[in-house]
Amino acid sequence: MPREIRFLNTASRRVETLDPLEKGHVRMYTCGPTVYNFPHIGNYRTFLFEDILRRTLKSFGYRVTQVMNLTDIDDKTIKGAAAEGISLREFTDRYVAAFFEDLDTLGVERAEHYPRATEWIPQMVKLVQRLNERGHTYVQDGSTYFRIATFPGYGKLSGIDVAQVRAGTRVDADEYEKEDVRDFVLWKAPKEGEPSWDTPLGPGRPGWHLECSAMSMGLLGESFDIHTGGVDNIFPHHENEIAQSEGATGAPFVRLWLHAEHLFVEGQKMAKSLGNFYTLRDLLEKGHDPLAIRYLLISVPYRQKLNFTSDGMHAAAAGIERIRNTMRRLAHTPPAAGEGSLPATAVGEFEAEFDAGLADDLNTARALAALHTLLTAVNQALDAGGIGAAARPLVDAALARVDAVLGIVPRVDTVHTSGVTATAGVGVVTASDTPAEQAEIESLIAERVAARAARDFARADEIRKELAERGIVLEDTPHGTVWHRTS
Ligand code: AMP
Ligand code: ZN
Repeated sequence: MPREIRFLNTASRRVETLDPLEKGHVRMYTCGPTVYNFPHIGNYRTFLFEDILRRTLKSFGYRVTQVMNLTDIDDKTIKGAAAEGISLREFTDRYVAAFFEDLDTLGVERAEHYPRATEWIPQMVKLVQRLNERGHTYVQDGSTYFRIATFPGYGKLSGIDVAQVRAGTRVDADEYEKEDVRDFVLWKAPKEGEPSWDTPLGPGRPGWHLECSAMSMGLLGESFDIHTGGVDNIFPHHENEIAQSEGATGAPFVRLWLHAEHLFVEGQKMAKSLGNFYTLRDLLEKGHDPLAIRYLLISVPYRQKLNFTSDGMHAAAAGIERIRNTMRRLAHTPPAAGEGSLPATAVGEFEAEFDAGLADDLNTARALAALHTLLTAVNQALDAGGIGAAARPLVDAALARVDAVLGIVPRVDTVHTSGVTATAGVGVVTASDTPAEQAEIESLIAERVAARAARDFARADEIRKELAERGIVLEDTPHGTVWHRTS
C-alpha cells in the first residue's frame, strides 16, 4: 500500500489526499521548457519541485508516469531561429541538449516521456477538429480560435472574471496577461517566414497552449492525476488547457493542480525579460557546487516564494558540507563494539518526521530539518562511543532514503588506509596525490597525534593549520585522525 500524501490543490484551494485514478499509479504532466535559450535557475526551481514530487511519490510506493513537454515551436523559438538564420530544428536541438545536460548536473531524474511539440502536430489537429465538432471554435482570417463563452468553466482555475470579456475579442500571442482574457488562438494562419504545416485545418502552426492538452491526453489518458507548472502558468496556459481538453472530451481533465511559486531576486520574480536572472551555467562558472544549488532551490517548500541571495547560496553550501563531513566520518569509522552511542530512537524519529514533512504538501524544509537532527545525533554518537553494528545499517538506509528523495547526499571518496597506522591517519587519496605527498601528510599527522599525546597542543594546532593551508582537513574521531582534501 503506498503511503498517504496530501497536496494543496490550486483548483479547489483545498488540501486534498492523493487518490490516483488507477490504484497505486500516478500519472502526471509537468509543463516543460521552451527551448529557445538556457533556462534560468528560477525555471529550475520549478523543475526541481517536480523532481522532488516524482521522487517522493516513488519513495512512498507509487508507480509514476511523468510526461514533460518540450516546447520547440512558439513565438520565442521561431524568433530565435530566424535571428540566427538557421532551421527551427537546428536551433531548438541545441537547447534541448543543454536542458538535459542541466538536468543531469542538478541530479534531476528523467521523466518517462519528453514529447516535442513539432512531433505531435497530427494529434493537435485532431483535438481542434473535436473542438470544432462540439462548437467551441471559430475561424477568422485563416486562424482557429477557442470561443471561451462556449465553455462555462472558463476561469475556474485562476479565478479570473470572464464577465468582463467582450464577446468575440481575440488574442493571438502565446503569452498574455490576465487583463487580456479573450478568445485564444488554437491554430495560427501561416505568416511570412514562419514554419507552417499543411493540415485539414488549413496551413499554419499550433498556438502554444494546444500542445500540452494533446500530449498529456495522448500519453496519460483523457483524465489523469496531477498537472504542475509555475504559478505564471495558471493563467492563461492552464486555464486554456482545461478549456481545450474538457471542451473536447466532456470529461474532467486533471484531479490535482500544483503550482510552484517563483524564485525572486531582490523582490522581483527572476525572469528573462527583467534581465535579473542567472542560468545554471552562470552559477557553475562562479564555482558553485551543483549540489548546493539543488539544496538551495529545494530548501523552501514549493508553494512559498524563495529569494535568491548569496547568503542563501552560502548557507546551502554549508548544508551540503555538513552532510559530506558526516558521510566521510561514517565512511572512515568502523562500527563500534556493542551498542554504541546513537540513541535507539534516533533513526525511527527521523523517518517519521521526514515522511510527515513530505506527506504535508512536500514540505521540504521540514524534511531537511529532520535530516539535520539526524546528522546531529550521528555526529554526537561518533564523538562519543561510535555507532553500534546493529544501528549502522539503519543509519545508512536513512541516508540512502534522503538521497533517493532529496538527491543531496554527496558521494564520498573511497577511504584509503595507508602506511602509518590506523590511529595516525586515514586519508582520502585523490588522483593528484603522489605517494610522496601522501607519506608527508601522514607523517605530519603522526607528528600531530604524538604532539597531542604529549599535550603539546600548540604544535598540534600549528600542524593542523599548516595542513589546512594546503587544503587538507583533519577530523579527530574515536577511530583516530582522518583527513581529506577540501573539494
Ligand atoms: P518556460 O521555459 O518559460 O516555459 O518556463 C519553464 C517553467 O519555469 C514554467 O513552469 C514556469 O512557470 C517556470 N518559471 C518561470 N520563471 C520562474 C521563476 N522565476 N521561478 C520559478 N519558476 C519559474
Ligand atoms: Zn504546458
